Amino acid sequence: MQKFCSSCGGRVDAALPFQCSHCGERFWANSKPCAGVLVEHRGEVLLIRRAIEPWFGEWDIPGGFVDDGEHPEDGARRELLEETGLDLPVVSLLGMWMDTYDSPSAPVEHPLSLLNIFFLAQVPDDDERPIPALDPHEASEFDWFAPDALPSPIGFPNHQPAVIAAWATTRLTGEAFAPLPARSR
Ligand SMILES: [Zn+2]
Repeated sequence: MQKFCSSCGGRVDAALPFQCSHCGERFWANSKPCAGVLVEHRGEVLLIRRAIEPWFGEWDIPGGFVDDGEHPEDGARRELLEETGLDLPVVSLLGMWMDTYDSPSAPVEHPLSLLNIFFLAQVPDDDERPIPALDPHEASEFDWFAPDALPSPIGFPNHQPAVIAAWATTRLTGEAFAPLPARSR
């Protein structure tokens, strides 16, 4: 429920979608954009263990909500930096997956719909394996996983296992990852 119109400040008490009866502004219900990064080094992927609900204690891909006006590529890099301390360019778009922001242990009556956009970042194989500096409020541990030895359980089971499987399949078949789409800013 939204109590006030964010355009005119008038009282509305309405659930999305609605039109403000005071100023006529329309408010739509949309999926929340999220962005994440699969970090790869010597053929293995970095995953972190969630220290927050939903999916507390389960394996996770670094990522989070995209800010207002932020390009998903920048949001993915920012979330990676905030959660792991790693500042890496992204080199490929893995794809987009839908989900909701809830879990059986953290149920929500009207969970947010999520539009999750995932990118690939690669640490050069000649480099030392980076040691993430985790934000302890968000993640309790990290590890690197080969495409044929993935962990479980993986949080957000309606999309993250599919994201990791898409990476693993491409890695195992030796196909090229899709290039980054062009961007205007
Ligand atoms: Zn209004």
